[in-house]
Amino acid sequence: MTKFYFLIILSLTFLINNMNASISGDPGEIIAIKVDNKNIPTNNLTVNIDDDIYELIPLPFDKQGGSILINNNESIYVNNKDFGESRIKIENTSMVSLSKADSRRAYKESQIIKNTLKSYTTENKPEFNFIQPVEGIISSRYGKRRFINDLPRSPHLALDIAALSGTEIVAPAKGKIILIGDFFYSGNYIIIDHGYGLLTSYSHLSKVDVVKNQFVEQGQKIGEVGSTGRVTGPHLHWTVYLNKIRINPELIIQENFLKSLL
Ligand SMILES: [Zn+2]
Repeated sequence: MTKFYFLIILSLTFLINNMNASISGDPGEIIAIKVDNKNIPTNNLTVNIDDDIYELIPLPFDKQGGSILINNNESIYVNNKDFGESRIKIENTSMVSLSKADSRRAYKESQIIKNTLKSYTTENKPEFNFIQPVEGIISSRYGKRRFINDLPRSPHLALDIAALSGTEIVAPAKGKIILIGDFFYSGNYIIIDHGYGLLTSYSHLSKVDVVKNQFVEQGQKIGEVGSTGRVTGPHLHWTVYLNKIRINPELIIQENFLKSLL
């Protein structure tokens, strides 16, 4: 009899392991994992889809070909994906090989951004009905390998939308402005906190129309497209973060995004 139970447990374990192995996704994607009603994670983002509760897990770009561990020792495999490459020329070499002072400045600013990304609120849950923040032409997609003046740089984990300087940028969803800055790489810069670790940032603006701690509604103007910071022309560099991980912005602006996760 014991042997019988042992075999059942063994085959169940095998089944569960195989089920786990079947969860996989692309870098920059969000995976929805069904959670038990009694075991709802309090800090991570959960959503209700068709009467069930799901935790949203972002898949990091730098975990390609590996797995990330989630609750109950389950894991999600991050596929290897080739997003292509982008090569740009920047004539102003002081923007590429930084002086000591500029490197110090850029480092300090990266720390400010890093700390801000940790400081999100959990007052309101984000609504997943995101709209594209600016009308324009997509000039660089998420995940491209980048070369500046033929030297390899970190991958492009944002979406570039090219538009004329002065084109209106709107909040893609409601949120709170938690950072405004004038930064070395990003130029005039805004971070919106949408709640529960979902944040978005806006770089290279020519004009900022909001102030820190201001609440914005979906579609409300936050600034204008520009070419401040390190750029080759006017565009919006739009980054979407979930749990500090940069995800693919084009996924979140799809219609019925949440349903697409099932
Ligand atoms: Zn960009």
